[in-house]
Formats: sequence, C-alpha cells, structure tokens
Amino acid sequence: MTIIACPNCKKATSTRLTVCEHCGVNPSTSTSTATYDWSWLMMWIGLILLLVIAYGIYQMPEKKRLAEEQKVLLKQQNIEEAKATKERDEKRKS
Ligand SMILES: [Zn+2]
Repeated sequence: MTIIACPNCKKATSTRLTVCEHCGVNPSTSTSTATYDWSWLMMWIGLILLLVIAYGIYQMPEKKRLAEEQKVLLKQQNIEEAKATKERDEKRKS
C-alpha cells in the first residue's frame, strides 16, 4: 500500500483505493506521482516515543526509592501502633 497525495485535493490517500477517499478522484490515473511525505510524522512519533521511554527509565529508580521509603514508614507506623497498644494494655492492667 502506497500513500500518495491526491492530485485533486492534496490529501493523503492510498493507491490501493480506486478513488480518493476525500474527493472521489482516481489518484492512480493521475499523472502526478508525488508521494505524501510521512517521514516527518514518523520522525516526531519516534522522537516522542524515545522521550517517553527515556523519561520512564529516568523515573524508575526514584519510584523504587519512594516505594521503599513508604514501606519503611509503614513499618515504623506499625511498630508505633503496636507500642501504643502495648502501653494501653499495660495501663489497663495496673
Ligand atoms: Zn482527493
């Protein structure tokens, strides 16, 4: 499948189609062989994907560290809670 610019409406259309999906003109019978330039779009998509991946890799250690910190905090909270319960029980006993 080749994407070409319709010679009539200049919109991207496929040579597989017998008529342009936008204006109904048959693009393959036209003398124009100008192909629609998708390379800039592909370049931008690639660049954005690369940035997203790079950002994900960059953020990963930070996320891990935060998760560890949260775990430690939770542990501390549990210990404090256990202590408080113990103290309360001891007060009740005396
Ligand atoms: Zn057209």
